[in-house]
Amino acid sequence: MTWKSHIAIATACTIPFNPALIPAASLGATAPDWSEEILDFFGVYVEHREITHYLYIPIIIISTSFLIDFQNILFWFGVGYLTHWVADALTPSGVPISQFDSYRIHFFGGKIRTGSFIEYILAFGFLFLIVQYLPENNLFLFLKQGYLYFPNFLQLYMIPPDKVCKIEENNELLHQLLTFLLIL
Ligand SMILES: [Zn+2]
Repeated sequence: MTWKSHIAIATACTIPFNPALIPAASLGATAPDWSEEILDFFGVYVEHREITHYLYIPIIIISTSFLIDFQNILFWFGVGYLTHWVADALTPSGVPISQFDSYRIHFFGGKIRTGSFIEYILAFGFLFLIVQYLPENNLFLFLKQGYLYFPNFLQLYMIPPDKVCKIEENNELLHQLLTFLLIL
């Protein structure tokens, strides 16, 4: 998938919970690809969609975030990373789980070609639906409340309630993001 779509999907997952950390999630959502380029720059050759695309990497990042997170940045970076993996699993080449098996995961048959029209429709349609529809949805409110008030360390580490903006306040932010993606 393209970076634009990865950023749109990560934004859709982050905006209802912690809009302030969309940049962290977007950085995570593109990390599996830009980290390949960084490794390459330092002379470490890695195959595309191999080591940086193992499923356990975002799982380790998210787990670590529970221990050492600073202002949730690592958590949302890890969530973004995970959305990249899920989104790439929709494409024909699929994604690996680990180095211990050569199996590649494909969701829904892996039919979404990178850069195709249907990819943008899915990614930006998902973002649109989250922003327009989900705030009204009972299941979503239930999840969000559970997320905010879950009475354990998650509440302390994952989301300072005063940082949560109401979804109506996100339109300006979203507008800026879409403008940014258009010029990208
Ligand atoms: Zn990728």
